Amino acid sequence: MAATLIDGIAIARELYAGFRERVKALPGRGMQPGLAAIVVGDNPASEVYVRTKTRACAEVGVHSVQHRFAADVSEDEVIGLIGRLNADPAIHGILVQLPLPPRLNSERILQSVDPRKDVDGFNWHNLGAIVAGHPRFLPCTPLGVMTMLAHEKIAVEGCHAVVIGRSVIVGKPMALMLIAGGATVTVCNSKTRDLRDHTSRADILVAAAGRPGLVQGSMIKPGAVVIDVGINRLPDGKLAGDVDFASASQVASRITPVPGGVGRMTVAMLIANTVTAAERYSAQSPGR
Ligand code: NAD
Repeated sequence: MAATLIDGIAIARELYAGFRERVKALPGRGMQPGLAAIVVGDNPASEVYVRTKTRACAEVGVHSVQHRFAADVSEDEVIGLIGRLNADPAIHGILVQLPLPPRLNSERILQSVDPRKDVDGFNWHNLGAIVAGHPRFLPCTPLGVMTMLAHEKIAVEGCHAVVIGRSVIVGKPMALMLIAGGATVTVCNSKTRDLRDHTSRADILVAAAGRPGLVQGSMIKPGAVVIDVGINRLPDGKLAGDVDFASASQVASRITPVPGGVGRMTVAMLIANTVTAAERYSAQSPGR
């Protein structure tokens, strides 16, 4: 293997030490950041994600609560709970675990989260603020990628970054953050005519398509940095990214593994955003 691994687990561990210090430094008597997770139905993958997030909260001293609904809950019931959490001074971050059952209007539910508690960064206020260049909460996955690049001292400015995927929660904000970092950015999607033509010119390649094995080593510029956001469950039950790790790691200079790469950073950024939300709250409500 030619490429050096970018270890999301090690970076996240380092970050957690800093989060613990920030939690301890929060002013106010025993003020503790609070994160509420809303889970609808019994999607096994969602259960794993929520467990991981809850464990991460416990590690850094964030209080976490889970609210569970059966899959046949009404949209208004979920929005009613979000309204109560928006008003709860002990809760600084609200996360709605996706995917929601298709019956429910996810947009309507996500938009009911107070932008000040929107630690996932999915609210239109927060997404729009990125376009305007005044971000408040950045979505956790692309923020995790940017944090990883900064931690590894990988220069973004001036490089050609190619993002595969244009979803609202990963690809689009990823592209905007890379633009803000001074990169020249190409965004590919499922209609892109010649994906290889773009990927082979990337200094930084971010794959977020949800297609296992989409990016082969032969599609990568020698020495490129390859960030694999994809998380795909294979028929044998194993997890795989969008990048064929065996061939890509022969060509890239730096590469993230799946698992143990971007996924860990996403969870770390959720915690970072929750601590930030609590800091902002305590700054605005001194004496509470
Ligand atoms: P999505 O389905 O909403 O979007 C996928 C995007 O990829 C679309 O814009 C589509 O046009 C593009 N795409 C699909 N096939 C393509 C192809 N052959 N060539 C070029 N572009 C193609 O998915 P998403 O929510 O953005 O998630 C993408 C992947 O990232 C999934 O595997 C998901 O599980 C994973 N993910 C990982 C994390 C993490 O923490 N690591 C977080 C969120 C999502």
